[in-house]
Amino acid sequence: MPWPPASELLAPLAPWFDQVRRDLPWRAADLDAPHPDPYAVLVSEVMLQQTQVATVVPYFERWMARFPTATALAAAPDDAIHKAWEGLGYYRRARFLKAAATSVAAHDWPGDLDGLAALPGLGPYTAAAVGAIAFQWPTPALDGNAFRVLARLLALEGDPKPHAAALRAWLAPGLTVHGPSRLTQALMELGATHCTPAPECAACPLAAACAAHRADRTGEIPPPRTRPRPREVALWLLAVEAEGHVLLQTPSGKGLLAGLWRWPTADPENHPADCALPRDLMAWPGWTQVYTHRREAVRPLHVTLPTRFQVQDGLRWVPRAKLAVLPMGRRDQRLRSLLGLPGGTPLMEGPDPADLVAALTRDAGPGT
Ligand code: SF4
Repeated sequence: MPWPPASELLAPLAPWFDQVRRDLPWRAADLDAPHPDPYAVLVSEVMLQQTQVATVVPYFERWMARFPTATALAAAPDDAIHKAWEGLGYYRRARFLKAAATSVAAHDWPGDLDGLAALPGLGPYTAAAVGAIAFQWPTPALDGNAFRVLARLLALEGDPKPHAAALRAWLAPGLTVHGPSRLTQALMELGATHCTPAPECAACPLAAACAAHRADRTGEIPPPRTRPRPREVALWLLAVEAEGHVLLQTPSGKGLLAGLWRWPTADPENHPADCALPRDLMAWPGWTQVYTHRREAVRPLHVTLPTRFQVQDGLRWVPRAKLAVLPMGRRDQRLRSLLGLPGGTPLMEGPDPADLVAALTRDAGPGT
């Protein structure tokens, strides 16, 4: 490996981090000792996957108050867990966290990286991060931020991910010298604050040694990622109400919104647009709901019917009063909030409620 030793190249990171580190509720005061609460590290690392620190902090605090130990989380009902995760997105993380906590509660913490990586949902990055931050193991954690910093520091050409094994072998002695927890968090912090896609090199502690910065190539190392265009869909989001109950899709076991209650949806393309409408079909202004691979043009509708009708599997009439305690994703929370507001406007063109009822007794709509 032609790279200078990590312990030398990354040496400025350790004192820099000691100076700039933020007080975060999951961060231990003593970065040289094993963390006093590995469960808190696990919760924070799982929450921080795909989510910004500022968003995670209040969720973490509420979560730890509600489920303070792995044993408490393992015993909690799924609806309570999803409710506590409501709004954080990527809900499968909550289910994986419960499964990992269940394993820890039953068998205690694994004694090595392979054991951590075998816990449900951890994956190589999270297992290594928990190993370093909770247990002070020299296990290099490479996420997108760390890859970006190291690619620039070492001027790696092309996608840095194929270098993962070599980077881990290079990084491990540096962790041992400067402290696994400290250096791991320092790399994360640098990637999140200075070495962003548009880096601020002037204030970076690694500027003097950074090959990409010195060659003025930070714009091309690593090469910018091209994302596939998200799929565009249009849907009606339906609040169907009758006899003090609302109709909901029960949580499914898989998919983007697994574990969450959802409003039924229907495809506007499959319904006539100009039928005569009763006054009890209301609409609110729509919005665009953005997911990683999908953009939904959402039209929220409220249909009031005189009586409940027989629904197919996967749908359930739920007392309106119970709505507030059910876990829902952001899109469905938004319609729940609209229901609490006065108004909406009568819809002058749109679906015939009879068509919607027919659709709901036939199929559950496209879902997500
Ligand atoms: S000098 Fe710039 S490109 Fe290099 S590690 Fe620091 S912030 Fe990143």
